[in-house]
Amino acid sequence: MPMEPKESESDTAADAFVCINCDSPSSSIYQEYSKDVIRITECKKCGEIVDKYVEYDIVLVIMDLTLQYISAYRHLLINTKFKLLNDPVFGQTFASP
Ligand SMILES: [Zn+2]
Repeated sequence: MPMEPKESESDTAADAFVCINCDSPSSSIYQEYSKDVIRITECKKCGEIVDKYVEYDIVLVIMDLTLQYISAYRHLLINTKFKLLNDPVFGQTFASP
C-alpha cells in the first residue's frame, strides 16, 4: 500500500510512536488541549486508537503482556519511555554507534 505524501508527518524520523494495531508510525499518542482535556490520537492508516493502553491501568497492561498480545508489547517497548540504553547491564548490548 503506497504512502500518501500529504501525511509526511506520519513517516518521518520524528515519529516517536507507533500504532499498536498496525505498527504504523505516529507523531503522538494523545494531544493535550488543556490541563484536563486531552484527545486520544487515531491512527491515520487503520483508524483505530494509536495506543489504547495509555488509558489502561498498569495491571491490565501486564495482564495483556502475559497473554502475549503484540499490541501490549508495542505499547511497552516503543510508546513508553522505557529505556534500556541507560541501564548499566543492557545499555552495553543495545547501545547504538
Ligand atoms: Zn494503525
